[in-house]
Amino acid sequence: MAREQQDKKKRKNCTFCADKVTSIDYKDGQKLKRYLTEAGKILPRRITGTCAEHQRMIARAVKRSREASIIGYVLDN
Ligand SMILES: [Zn+2]
Repeated sequence: MAREQQDKKKRKNCTFCADKVTSIDYKDGQKLKRYLTEAGKILPRRITGTCAEHQRMIARAVKRSREASIIGYVLDN
C-alpha cells in the first residue's frame, strides 16, 4: 500500500501532463505565477513535481511573459 503510493507520487505529479498540456501560454500570467516564488523565480521541479519537458515550457513562457511585461521580474503579490 505504502509502496504503491510512493510509486504513484514519483511517476506522475506533473499537472501539465495530467491536463495533457502541449503548450503553455505566456499570456496566462496567473497560471505562470503559480510556478514562481515570491521573488519571481521559477520553482524547482522538486517542489512543483513538473516533468522536465513541461519545466522547460514554463521557463520559456515565464521568460516571454517577463519580456511582454505580463509578469514582473519581481512579483508584488
Ligand atoms: Zn509534464
